[in-house]
Amino acid sequence: MENLEKAREILQQQRREIIAGAEKVLQSTVEKGVQLFPDPSDLASIEESQGFSYRLKEREKKLLRKIDEALERIETGSFGICERCGEEIEEKRMLARPVTTFCISCKTLLEEEERAEKIRR
Ligand SMILES: [Zn+2]
Repeated sequence: MENLEKAREILQQQRREIIAGAEKVLQSTVEKGVQLFPDPSDLASIEESQGFSYRLKEREKKLLRKIDEALERIETGSFGICERCGEEIEEKRMLARPVTTFCISCKTLLEEEERAEKIRR
């Protein structure tokens, strides 16, 4: 893959957006908290939840982890290599979705397997 720098930029941008979004949520939580919960014990629980991990929703946490893993793969040189078949993933696909770890045919296969698994259960 040639456009590693571009992929890195996209990933770092996505990372910033998630973090900025989380900070906005925290901001409004604190504002609402001050207005809605004048009880000091409620305020304490709001302060407790200010730990960064609490600010992120589960889905965002997962995405953030994927972004970090993708950035790490850029560093280690395994970025853009399919985890399943070891082939290079199409650059267009990597730039559209840089956190992906499977080429399109493996991804399709895995999704089919997943669906079959659900039907069997
Ligand atoms: Zn593959």
